[in-house]
Amino acid sequence: MFLMKYKISFIFLLFIASLPVRAQLQIKPPPASGFERRIRQYIDTMSIIDTHEHLVGPEMLADGFFLDFSLLLLQNGYDDLISAGMPDTLYDKLFNEELQPSEKWKIVEPWWQNSFNTSFNRIILYSIRHLYGIDDLNASTVGPLSEKIRKAYETNWFDRILLDSCRIKYLIKDGNYMPGRDVYVKYEKRFDDWLLLRSKFGIDSLAIQQRDPIYSLDDLEKSLTLAFEKELKKGMIAVKVFTSYYRTLNFEKVDKESAKKVFRSLVNGDMDFRITMKDAKPLQDYLFHHLMRLALKYDMPVAIHTGLQAGKGKIIDNSNPEHLTNLFVLYPGIDFVLYHGSFPYGGELSALAKNYRNVYIDMNWAWAVSPTYSRYHLNLWLEMVPANRLIAFGGDAMAVENVYSELILARNIISDVLSEKVKEGYYSEEEAKTIAKMIFHDNAARLYKLE
Ligand SMILES: [Zn+2]
Repeated sequence: MFLMKYKISFIFLLFIASLPVRAQLQIKPPPASGFERRIRQYIDTMSIIDTHEHLVGPEMLADGFFLDFSLLLLQNGYDDLISAGMPDTLYDKLFNEELQPSEKWKIVEPWWQNSFNTSFNRIILYSIRHLYGIDDLNASTVGPLSEKIRKAYETNWFDRILLDSCRIKYLIKDGNYMPGRDVYVKYEKRFDDWLLLRSKFGIDSLAIQQRDPIYSLDDLEKSLTLAFEKELKKGMIAVKVFTSYYRTLNFEKVDKESAKKVFRSLVNGDMDFRITMKDAKPLQDYLFHHLMRLALKYDMPVAIHTGLQAGKGKIIDNSNPEHLTNLFVLYPGIDFVLYHGSFPYGGELSALAKNYRNVYIDMNWAWAVSPTYSRYHLNLWLEMVPANRLIAFGGDAMAVENVYSELILARNIISDVLSEKVKEGYYSEEEAKTIAKMIFHDNAARLYKLE
């Protein structure tokens, strides 16, 4: 009897296992065998647009002190060493002093041993293994690795990794353009000097930069207009808003009189007069809306840092994308690109992108921050948000080695998620490939007018 029962359950289990997986609605017929491999290959060999990087060019590297293993720690890896307890005061020793790799390793080692587990640091390990053939980061490898890095940068390594290994067609750099690389490196510009203004010194600096005195709020607005138009001529393709590192993303519509009041308090102050972000908010908000009018006039997308800030001691609520809701209503003609999958506000971002047709989700950096978050939210966004408003990749990195590894991570997860949905019959194989092309290339090309 027992055996019989066992046999029946076994047959039943076999029957269940042979059914197609139907986690949701099965809309498409089962895919032809080998679909996972074909989707993966399609994604792995596709040309992409990388929408956000902070790369340090090889020319600058040659003048710095981090053309060794510490290059790979820049920003992300360093952040997790700090999270593990490394004192901030060691930054200069690591990146601004001429030390041997072995001496740098002595500084890093205790903190690396406590943070080797994180995604930021696994990306570094992947880079050194696959690009430099070095299996681990430790006292005996930092020397040879540093030597290999130095040698690599004597060649056209930088461009080769980006163009050949990563198959990047265009790349958008935060900050400024890279001379000699304009063919594929485009740039977005921040206007923090206005959006974070809170001192007399700040106003004077702007006047000196532009060789034009600033006596009134109108002069200050004019200085922003001039700076914006100058960047347009240089080739800026988007406005970048970075302010949530320092203040809330809630930009209220302020009347001119309230902004003037703050402006007057600043210009009438002493040379070192400085007010709090909270007190400066009416002026900053007023200038932000002036910047939005410029973006509208010149048809510039506005890319906004949302969610987790790099570095330590930042206030996470400042970067909640919900604070931006009034802008989506006020400026239906501006395309707002919300960066980093708004970690950890993925749910809020889903609702915003579904509700407002001028909101784009850009998953740059989210892959490195958390592969699990990215996988979950990619599933969610594919189900909730039209595919024309999802952008897959930017590394948000300073070294090309880490762009390389983060892109492989993103390609892996996107292949997996799409293949799963094809397996379930939710999408056809062709639909999955169409989505991949839209999110890796077409959407960014259209949004930033890159073709
Ligand atoms: Zn960034």
